[in-house]
Amino acid sequence: MRKGIDWPLSSGEMRTLPCPTYLSGTVHDDGWRGAMTLASHGKAVVIGGSMAGLFAAHFLRRAGWRVEVFERTSGPLSGRGAGIMTHPQLRAALETLGLPTVENFGVPITTRVAIDRSGHVLMTRHFPQIATAWTRVHSLLSDAFPRAHYHAGMEFESFAADAQDVRVRFADGHVETADLLVGADGFRSSVRRQLFPSLAPEYAGYVGWRGMLPEAEMDSAPFALTSQFTFDLPDGEHMIGYPVAGPGNQLTPGQRNYNFVWYRPADASSELPALLTDGDGQRHELSIPPILVAPAVVDEMRCHANRVLSPWFRDVVARTSQPFFQPIYDLAVPRMAEGRVVLVGDAAFVVRPHVGAGVLKAADDAQALVAALGDRHGNLVQQLQTFSYARVPVGVKMIARARDLGSYISRSFANEAERLAAAAAGAPERVLAETAALEFLDT
Ligand SMILES: Cc1cc2nc3c(=O)[nH]c(=O)nc-3n(C[C@H](O)[C@H](O)[C@H](O)COP(=O)(O)OP(=O)(O)OC[C@H]3O[C@@H](n4cnc5c(N)ncnc54)[C@H](O)[C@@H]3O)c2cc1C
Repeated sequence: MRKGIDWPLSSGEMRTLPCPTYLSGTVHDDGWRGAMTLASHGKAVVIGGSMAGLFAAHFLRRAGWRVEVFERTSGPLSGRGAGIMTHPQLRAALETLGLPTVENFGVPITTRVAIDRSGHVLMTRHFPQIATAWTRVHSLLSDAFPRAHYHAGMEFESFAADAQDVRVRFADGHVETADLLVGADGFRSSVRRQLFPSLAPEYAGYVGWRGMLPEAEMDSAPFALTSQFTFDLPDGEHMIGYPVAGPGNQLTPGQRNYNFVWYRPADASSELPALLTDGDGQRHELSIPPILVAPAVVDEMRCHANRVLSPWFRDVVARTSQPFFQPIYDLAVPRMAEGRVVLVGDAAFVVRPHVGAGVLKAADDAQALVAALGDRHGNLVQQLQTFSYARVPVGVKMIARARDLGSYISRSFANEAERLAAAAAGAPERVLAETAALEFLDT
């Protein structure tokens, strides 16, 4: 039995704290960054080993829970999300976990630039922000999580919960028993489907084409375009681009990657089904793996780029070797907890990406969850309800804001009032001020 607990401080140092008496000495070392796990709480099973799952798993472990993460994918998850915009709160969450983010977290960007179709700068806005790669954040989280408690290739199938515990069944027949089940299984969440069978992601009417290419392969362009957050706003469409770290987290200009997201309308009845049909004619539901996007679909996208985008972005699109797209959805759950089961990240709220905060939302869900679970003698079900009360309004607010920001990405509007509202939402000054900005959460 140990006399003290090695506890990571936010500075990264370790401090040995005296063992609180209520822990009755049940402290065990499993080698996770040298920190100790306090066996003061129960066991949590987390479904999904991506952003929300790993944030929840880390914060729960840090609070003394025994945590097992189950991820359906057997290979690495890296490379899924291309580039992302971040907020200081995301970095703070990583630092709270003692993860080394201070240096090389991403590319610091100071300015936003809107350009017109000929590439001329329409306006600029000072807006310091760090752009990083999805993989960078994910690897910070996954590298620091103990392998022994991360189970890849395990597909959640169903759960059964009662007053005592929750039993979680996987596709291979394995059953795991826990005190708490965390559904962090993304926008198609199976955990959510069992809680709310009638809820499904609602298609927003447009897709986000994405891609990344090495800066070294790009035409030389003015610094303002290569090193800042650039917006090109053709009628009813929205293209953004910014630099992110290159291979090996390389941040030197010229050796980074350039990331773009191009939002384009695609109607639900004919265009979206065509986009979701792969080269072999197989129709995919909700989304399609990047490598299966049909070549004809990519060709059409590149042709359209030549018609509507500025020369800078035409070149970026033309040179990107494997562009892919994600249909954009909205989804809101009425509550994030039911009994011993809780939903976090995109499993609970799918917010259109214009607020650029899906990863931060996942981190904040995790922190709110452990805050609500603070008293280990408390009633777990009530604590989870408290978590839900705290986080549902945030998700609702984010969805409304992102819908508003994306409202002009359309080819047609129901009436003149809707068209005027959309035109206001698509005005460059508003787009520059409000995209990936979170002040609205404070009002
Ligand atoms: C175009 C676009 C741009 C974006 N830009 C930004 C941005 O700039 N900034 C930002 O913060 N966010 C951005 N986002 C949002 C962000 O990527 C997501 O919010 C975030 O990745 C969601 O993480 P998650 O862990 O909740 O879900 P996911 O990353 O979807 O993870 C869910 C995990 O659960 C696993 N899983 C699913 N079902 C099962 C099962 N049955 N059993 C076991 N495992 C399962 C999956 O394999 C997956 O690994 C963007 C999103 C899009 C589409």
